[in-house]
Formats: sequence, C-alpha cells, structure tokens
Amino acid sequence: MSLRIKHTASPVNIFTIMTNLARQENAYNLSQGLPDYPIASELNELLQEAVIEGFNQYAPMQGLVQLRENIARTLNDRYATGFCSPDTVTITPGATYGIYTALAAIIEKGDEVIYLEPAFDCYLPAIEINGGIPVRVTLESHNNFAIDWEKIRDAISAKTKAILINTPHNPTGYVWTQNDWDQLAAIIDVRDIYVVSDEVYDSIVFDGQQHIPGFLQAAFNDKIISIYSFGKAFHITGWKIGYCVASKEITEVFRSIHQYLTFSVNTPAQYALAKYLEIYEPQEAARMLQAKRDLLVNGLQPSPLNRLAISMGTYFQLYDYSAISDLNDFEFAQWLTVEHKVATIPLSAFYKTPQHDRIVRFCFAKKDEVIEKAAKILRHIS
Ligand code: GLN
Repeated sequence: MSLRIKHTASPVNIFTIMTNLARQENAYNLSQGLPDYPIASELNELLQEAVIEGFNQYAPMQGLVQLRENIARTLNDRYATGFCSPDTVTITPGATYGIYTALAAIIEKGDEVIYLEPAFDCYLPAIEINGGIPVRVTLESHNNFAIDWEKIRDAISAKTKAILINTPHNPTGYVWTQNDWDQLAAIIDVRDIYVVSDEVYDSIVFDGQQHIPGFLQAAFNDKIISIYSFGKAFHITGWKIGYCVASKEITEVFRSIHQYLTFSVNTPAQYALAKYLEIYEPQEAARMLQAKRDLLVNGLQPSPLNRLAISMGTYFQLYDYSAISDLNDFEFAQWLTVEHKVATIPLSAFYKTPQHDRIVRFCFAKKDEVIEKAAKILRHIS
C-alpha cells in the first residue's frame, strides 16, 4: 500500500521555501506576507487578560457569540447593511481553512471550480483535495492582469459548481470595483454557481478606495461565502484566526463540516479580538500599509526594477526585472536572496505552470528600516 499526494500543487509551498532561504541567508525578507513589526499593545494585553479571566476551554463551535456579534456590527456599520448577524458569521482558524471548508461544503466529486490565475497557492490543492476539477482562467501580465470576463464565461460548463475569486488581490494588488461584481453577477445570473470570495485583505485598501464585499451583492448573496482574516487586518498572521460570512443556509452547511474539521477555534484569541473590535481604529491598517507601500515604491524610484500597476490594496507590489536579468523568476528570487540579501516571491508561484514573465512580488508589510535597507540594495542591483 502506498500513499499519494492528493493534489498537483507544489509539495512545499513557495512561502516556506523563500522564508527559509531568507533566514539562512540573513536576507531582508520581502517574500512571505508576514509582518515583522510589533502588534497593537491592546491586543497583547487582551490576549493575556483572556487567559487570566479563564477563557481557556473550547469555544462554541461557531465562535464566541461576543466575537460574532462584534464582527456583524462592525461589518453592518462599515457597509451600511443589515446582512450580517451572529448567524451569518463563523469563526475559523485562518482564511486558508475557511477557503478549504467552503469548498468542502459546496462541491461534490467531479464538480468544476473556476479560479483566476495568478492565484494564491492554496486554491488549487483545496479544490483538488475536495474532489473538484480545477478550471483555470489565466490573466495576462501584459494586459495588467485585467479580468477577462469573456474567458470566464467560456470556462463555464454544465459541471461548474463554484468560482473562487480574490479581492483585494494577492499578488497584483487589484481591488474589485462594483462593475466587476456586476459582471460576475451577470455571468452567474440564474445558474447554480457558488462564489467563494477570498477577501482577506479587506482592511488594506489604499488611496481612499473602499473594499466592496461579496456578501453585499444582492444579486447573489445567497450563493456566496466571503472569507476574512484577522491575521491581515491586525497584523497577527500567527494567531491564525479568520471568519466567514454567508447566508444562514450556506452557513449551516459550512458549520456542519467545520465542526468535524476543527470543532472550534482558539478561545483566548477570540476573546481578545472581540474586545479589540470595540476599540480599534478601522482606517489604521490601510493608512499604515499605504505608507509602507509608498516607502517601497519611492525607494525604488529610480531603480533597474520596473513597477507594474500600483498596488491598490494588500501587502504586495509587483515588479518586472527584465531590464537586469534573463533568469526565470524562481532563479531570480533565489539569486536576489543569496547574492543581494533581499528575498522575494516569483510570480510563477501563483500559476499552475511557470510563466515566462520576469516578475516578482515584494511584500511591504515590514518595518520601515527593513523596506529602506532593502530598497537601497534593490536600487543598485545589476
Ligand atoms: N498569504 C501569505 C503570502 O501571500 C503567505 C501565507 C502562507 O505562507 N501560506 O505571502
């Protein structure tokens, strides 16, 4: 008897590879999307308070009611809606888990799931492990990764059960407009197609723009699961807590699986987040990350690297390095880390088959001094 890997994605993901290499090389780590700066002191104190106050046993399966209430209130206020309630919010151990569980809830063996490349690396394995058939729609770098609605329409078949989308988008930094949502609504129309909407960077949108959540789309809000991450919003990726928002009907099915995958989520962290939602400043993350984006972008101006479209949100900015190297992007990322001590992520990691673009992704969710020092190096590479 032998075991097989049940998906066709890389057995070790690029984020692990590059962060390990960055550590080994003592390089500035602009690769994996993990902040290196301190978290809010209130979060730190609230987590300790939770343990001292005795919030140390299993939370309810769907999450602490105080946390779900505060999430629902926050979202309803922010988006002037009444859609969210404790019954439409489920706390998850991170968003990757949320995406996996959403797909487990929606798809049956042999169902097709459409997703758009470049895509975060967990989408493909999450579809395949759940018995789905991935249908890729590849967006082109030379077209600035514009969403190709024609290609999406063509990808739909009688077997399409779901489409997996991401806004704000990792790695391009594109943020969906209402027009994008309307286009998707037109495609779904009366079809029985569900939408899994990865919105983990919802709090990190720049230049006065607003994130538009999936659950707000009246045309299909009984067919969508929107997935969020406190890890990104509050710079606590190691806490591994997120949440899903979906109609009560979808939520019920989602929870039926969730309770047997993990049952419940870290209680002290839920307590701390419930309290923190009552005091946090909603614009803070976007303001802070926008300043960091600008520090990187201005620091690389001029440089031999060519910026792609400015990041509208997320932790990331793409750059083209074709002016200085013919190496493929995996080789270039290794070379840059080993020879110049700046770690990055090759864009090809976001595709099923490596691309011939000469593009890498830099993460700017880093201390200002790290961004400045890395930018200084990058200005002079040749
Ligand atoms: N979301 C993070 C990124 O894009 C990485 C998460 C992970 O390591 N799986 O860099």
